Amino acid sequence: MKLIDLRSDTVTKPTERMRRAMAEAEVGDDVYMEDPTVLRLQERAAELTGKEAALFVPSGTMGNQICIKLHSRPGTEVVLEERSHIFNYEMGASALISGVTLRPVRGEDGLLDWQKVNAAIHHNAAYYVTPTSMIALENSHNMAGGSVMPLGIADEICAGARALGLKTHLDGARIFNASIALSTTVAEIARPFDTVMFCLSKGLGAPVGSMIAGCRDLIREAVSLRKLLGGGMRQVGVLAAAGLVALDESPGVLPDDHANAQRLATGLAQIRGLKIDPEKVQTNIVIFDISETGMTTSQLTVELKARGVLANGINPREMRMVTHYDVSLEKIETTLGIIREIVER
Ligand SMILES: *Cc1c(COP(=O)(O)O)cnc(C)c1O
Repeated sequence: MKLIDLRSDTVTKPTERMRRAMAEAEVGDDVYMEDPTVLRLQERAAELTGKEAALFVPSGTMGNQICIKLHSRPGTEVVLEERSHIFNYEMGASALISGVTLRPVRGEDGLLDWQKVNAAIHHNAAYYVTPTSMIALENSHNMAGGSVMPLGIADEICAGARALGLKTHLDGARIFNASIALSTTVAEIARPFDTVMFCLSKGLGAPVGSMIAGCRDLIREAVSLRKLLGGGMRQVGVLAAAGLVALDESPGVLPDDHANAQRLATGLAQIRGLKIDPEKVQTNIVIFDISETGMTTSQLTVELKARGVLANGINPREMRMVTHYDVSLEKIETTLGIIREIVER
């Protein structure tokens, strides 16, 4: 049985063109900064994000953690959103690597604003209060259903933070999805932030890797931190080659993923017992509440799998489905039929 895999956009397999580019990649030792393909990818990422320099890192998690270390010192605090990846899914790495604590703030649909962020910042507070060093935002916001942060809000938060001498980082794992939903460039979204991370390995379809970008001095420091964390790689041009193809061919097809997510959301909204507001689905992530079906997400996951659909619950009540280029509109319709059959029987 050919599975319909909606667990994540990380399950995408490299395209034919990526495979060819990988096989033919010109390579060198990247620890000596002599891999021409990696250098080209880093230049391209800097250009796309509108930053001075960029660095190829093995994962989004390492990229985020390097940036946190760049912007903080031990004993300080990072303000971020309560459902953010850095807070929930990076295994407390920032405590281990940077010695910081995290101050989560709940945003409506994952969306913070300056008022909420400002209220969580400790600036010129009593000497025994943990001082804030930086703000980390996420766009699009994975666990808030792929919601996007409008430019004006990010601008205001970053300007407010800068005025207090705080640094800002954008976890832009899916910044290309955000750019489509906001009808603007990746550079515009990244502009107010000191650093940005984005993933090549999600909807863009590359097999491995993420990029971080920022000013030249920060990226120079980031090279050392990457090495410290075990992320110094050698003939890694074979991976960078796939990343270059991903940047070239994938952003143009992401709108299809968004349209498919929209179709999925509208279809789900019509199934008895499922709760979702399709208007809140802005990118390629669909989160819906199944509590009124009387099933738990682990039960539904098992039933779906038995019928060839893979998806995960994010808690006992909510399922998450992520569209990507290996899931066609036809497969979305099949998925809807299968879910209806399970929950309405
Ligand atoms: C996937 C993801 C990451 C981390 O990427 P990995 O490459 O899996 O380490 C970071 N932030 C967000 C929002 C993500 O969705």
